[in-house]
Order: sequence, then structure tokens, then C-alpha cells
Amino acid sequence: MLSTNTLQQFQTPCYIYDTELLARTLQAIRSELKAHDNYHVHYAIKANSNPQILQQIAAAGLGADCVSGGEIRAALAAGFPAKEIAFAGVGKADWEIQLALESGIGMFNVESFEELEVINQFATSMNLRARVSFRINPDVAAHTHSHITTGRAEDKFGIAKEDMLRAIRTAQQMPHIEFTGLHFHIGSQILDMKDFRQLCLCINDLQSNILDTAGIFAPNINVGGGLGIDYEEPNEHPVPDFKAYFDTFKQHLQLRDGQQLHFELGRAVVAQMGSLLTRVLYVKHGHQKQFVIVDAGMTELIRPALYGAVHQICNLSGEARMRAAADPHAEDKTMPVCEYDVVGPICESSDVFAKDIALPETFRGDFLVIRSAGAYGETMASQYNCRALPTAHFINKQP
Ligand SMILES: *Cc1c(COP(=O)(O)O)cnc(C)c1O
Repeated sequence: MLSTNTLQQFQTPCYIYDTELLARTLQAIRSELKAHDNYHVHYAIKANSNPQILQQIAAAGLGADCVSGGEIRAALAAGFPAKEIAFAGVGKADWEIQLALESGIGMFNVESFEELEVINQFATSMNLRARVSFRINPDVAAHTHSHITTGRAEDKFGIAKEDMLRAIRTAQQMPHIEFTGLHFHIGSQILDMKDFRQLCLCINDLQSNILDTAGIFAPNINVGGGLGIDYEEPNEHPVPDFKAYFDTFKQHLQLRDGQQLHFELGRAVVAQMGSLLTRVLYVKHGHQKQFVIVDAGMTELIRPALYGAVHQICNLSGEARMRAAADPHAEDKTMPVCEYDVVGPICESSDVFAKDIALPETFRGDFLVIRSAGAYGETMASQYNCRALPTAHFINKQP
């Protein structure tokens, strides 16, 4: 626990990253991978692309999953081997395809015939062979927020199952394309293993009824990411249940001999290691409600405004006052708990971190932490309202 004195050194708002928890999380993944030598994990760079975090993840031996040329550059700079990079995305620009080819990435996850055509043109003119997997839309509806489900027929991602065979045949006829396998990604923040089981059953069906019948071997099956984390009780579950996750695939996915299985975990790797530290500017006493107005807003952490996401919020200064009051020698033992809306300073009504939450009585200058903010926090920060981007600090314990 960082003391409120230690916190004084930080300019708020800022991200605080716990490298010890990241190390423990990576260790948990590695020990699961030891049991499965044909499993590979690619970290989804978009969850958090802070260079120091990327270096720590690359050093642990994970590959990278990129969705832009900028992410490919960030991954290479952090030390991820090019061969371990997968490049996904519905709208790959020409320069991004060229960069990926020049760098010699492991595979493109191709999302349309139109994109395959363009990759083939560039590979031909560069006299290279592009390794291509097809992202297939499995039409599986994951039980998560509708903005972060990606595998339904109506979502913009991937190639329809009905078109899979034609896509593979087309690729096999292109001399500068090497068909490397199939890719799927059904959504994010998925906690119900039944959703992943459903994905496995869909892949089994595609393999038995389409690939086997056509005599096609897919060397790689990539099941994407999406494993969720516990936003409500981060202290109880700091490291996600990777065993249950990998075991679901072990149990339900029927791999062919020699087939490699790839995962693209983002949130599950980095969410719990990050907190957003913020200070209270004002406690505004309204007629219906009391507002804790903090110096962080949707510009630093957009998830609550964008998806209605829930993050645990703690008033570290208030908790320190409560501990002091619990001391047998303390004079004042009345430490009320109040209900507040915690809001940011941005000129948008959706700039709200939480409504009607209980906090120790809160005052101007108090330090609050918004927990589980390591994924899709710093990477989604913006400069709206001419604000500065948040800084990041590294510690080896949660604040
Ligand atoms: C976003 C994304 C991921 C990572 O998702 P998480 O929910 O953070 O694990 C993996 N693969 C693809 C293709 C993605 O777009």
C-alpha cells in the first residue's frame, strides 16, 4: 500500500502500473503454456502499448497481435520477434501492408477478398510470399457489451463461413500468398467459458465439414482474445483464471496433428496491473446528489463513458483517515461514509466514472484510484478539451 505521502510525488491524473503484478500474470500464462507445447500467446498491443510494458511482455516470450502499422513498429521496437507478430484489422492501409511485408511478420489475418488481392499485389511487386490466415466470422454472439462483441454475422469483421473455402482456394492460387490458417475473435471481456466452447464447436464443424472434405490442412488456428477480468473485485482476482481458459480449448477444440493453436490476449494480461490516480478538485453538494469532481476524465479513461464500464474506485486518503480513526488512541471516531457520483471535468454529460457509490467522506485534495485501468485506458486517452495526455509511473505494488 502506497502512503498518501508517497502519492504526493505524482502529478495527477496519471497511470500507475504495478510491474510485479504484470510479472505474476505473465508467469501464470507461461506456466499454463508449458503444459501445451503447440499453444502460442500473442499479446494484443492495443490493450496497452506503453513501451516499458511491451518490453516486459516481449521479454516473457509472448508474441504480438497488431491492428495497425504503428502497433507493428511499437512491437518491433519493444523486441517482439517479427515472426511472432500477427496483423489483423478490416482496413489495412497500403503503407501498413508494405511495412508488414518488409518486416517479415508471422501472418496477416485477412478480413476480405479485396484485402487479399491488395496484399498479393504488394507481395508480388516486392517478390515476397505473404503468410495469410483468414479471419472467419463464426456468427457466435458472446455474452458481453454489444460494442465489444465482434463475431456475429452483422458485425463488420471477418469473412462469412460460407465464403471460407472460396477464400482459401483463391489464396492457394496466388503464387505470392501462403495460406497459413484460420483466425477468429468473438469479442472482449468474456467471462463465460461457454462462449469460448461455442467458438470451439464452430471451428470443429468448419474443420470436419469443410476443410477435411476439401482436403485442406490449416497449419494454424487462431482463436483471438477476449478473456475477461474481474472489474468488481480486483483484489480478489488480480490474475485471471488462465487455466480454465486454456482448458476450455484443450477440452473442446479438436486440433489436427501438427496444428498450432494461437491466442491473442490483451485485457487479461494488463488490465489489473494499472490504476488511474486522480485528485479531488471539488466536492459539490447538489440538492439531489453529491458530486466528487476529480481531475481525471473521459480523456484519460473513456471506458465508463463509452461502454458503461464499471471500475472499482477507492479514496486512498479517506481510507487512511479511517484507519487513523480506528486507532484506539484516536479522538474522533466518527468517520462517515457517503454516497457520491464521481465525475470528471470534461464538458460532456457522459464524463462520469461512477454513480451513487459509497466512499469515505471525501474532501478536496483527496487521492482516488480507479482500479483495473491497465487495459484500454492509456491507449484510448485523447487530448479533447486541449488536455495533456496522461503520464505513466511504474511501481511494484498496487497503490
Ligand atoms: C482487440 C483484439 C484482441 C484482444 O482482445 P482482448 O479482449 O483485449 O483480449 C485480440 N484479437 C483481435 C483481433 C482484436 O481485435
